[in-house]
Amino acid sequence: MTATAPITQDFITIPRKEGGSALPNLIGMTRAQLAVALDEVGTPPKQIKMRVGQIWQWIYTKGVHSFDDMTNLSKDFRALLSMNFQLSRPEIVTRQISSDGTRKYLLRIAGGHEVETVYIPETNRGTLCISSQVGCTLTCTFCHTGTQKLVRNLTTAEIVGQIMVARDDLEEWGKPPGDKRLVSNIVLMGMGEPLYNTDNVRDAMLIAMDDAGISLSRRRITLSTSGVVPEIIRAGAEIGCMLAISFHATTDAVRDTLVPINRKHNIQELLQACRDYPRLSNAERITFEYVMLKDVNDSDADARRLVRLIKGIPAKINLIPFNPWPGSPYERSSWERIEAFAEIVNNAGYASPVRTPRGEDIMAACGQLKSATERARKSRAQIAKEIEGQ
Ligand code: SAH
Ligand code: SF4
Repeated sequence: MTATAPITQDFITIPRKEGGSALPNLIGMTRAQLAVALDEVGTPPKQIKMRVGQIWQWIYTKGVHSFDDMTNLSKDFRALLSMNFQLSRPEIVTRQISSDGTRKYLLRIAGGHEVETVYIPETNRGTLCISSQVGCTLTCTFCHTGTQKLVRNLTTAEIVGQIMVARDDLEEWGKPPGDKRLVSNIVLMGMGEPLYNTDNVRDAMLIAMDDAGISLSRRRITLSTSGVVPEIIRAGAEIGCMLAISFHATTDAVRDTLVPINRKHNIQELLQACRDYPRLSNAERITFEYVMLKDVNDSDADARRLVRLIKGIPAKINLIPFNPWPGSPYERSSWERIEAFAEIVNNAGYASPVRTPRGEDIMAACGQLKSATERARKSRAQIAKEIEGQ
């Protein structure tokens, strides 16, 4: 358990640049959008396809930060680009490194908003947990992000920018293909409901999957949703990534309180969308996430109902010990209870890994995101108050 591990944190605060240019950002444009943008600034039509390819490679294979670094483009063309466009990523405000190696980035985006991105290193691979919104409009009662009032959708650039920032920090640009990847997997499990921001999430993931760039396989990208049923169909068709469902309850009555979107799209409707998800097979299974809440959803009867409900769906069940946050209204199930629940699920033939909480000492575990931001805000507010009082 990381909660009792000694806290050895590397906490850096990076000075902020104020302002920022209002020029269009080339990061986050799809190839088609990039072609239109280059056309609009007078790039000769015959050159556009080649220029798109060159710029794409500089941005997404080499990770350059400046047009000056695009050395196979003429000086004049580079000048044209820098007069008309910017290459901008979210800004790192703080980076914390947990005693277990988990890194949490607090990123600042346009409007002064802040979002969190978490990198979880594992043997021979690493998972980046990215955010899709500032806060979340849904109000799942066990989730800290759901208590955050301020909400806006992230742009495509801000979503793909999280991957770029992590690759910058881990010095992962320009490595030969086939090299061991530090960021080998992406999970859309940070702040926000990705399927309330489907278009931008889709474009960002298509950029991350592009063969001539970051080149992540669609099977290494997992989108987690609380159950926005109509958008699940689009995610399957337009992104083709792996799907995780925040299931968390086995009756509509309980799911209505834990995951309130259930009142709009109930368990039966949600499971039908899962059954219809394209390409399901043993190799491409749906993950059912199930947060273990003491005396709320963790009984043997729940475990048996769960396996009955998902019967016939190629699935794995990811049991998540509840991660508490200040003022949270639930308790984590005991380890004995989690094990007993897992055994019933296992005996029914489903893999049911228990998700080890990672980065708890820096509040980076599932559902804890927001607090660093909130705390930072509070302390800034306190500082302002103190100054006022002087
Ligand atoms: N909005 C999306 C993705 C972000 S949440 C969704 O709900 O699926 C990622 C996962 O963490 C979800 O399964 C969510 O239910 C779970 N989670 C939220 N709060 C948690 C907490 N306090 N402890 C453990 N898991 C939590
Ligand atoms: Fe939003 Fe997901 Fe948290 Fe629910 S669990 S409030 S959908 S981020």
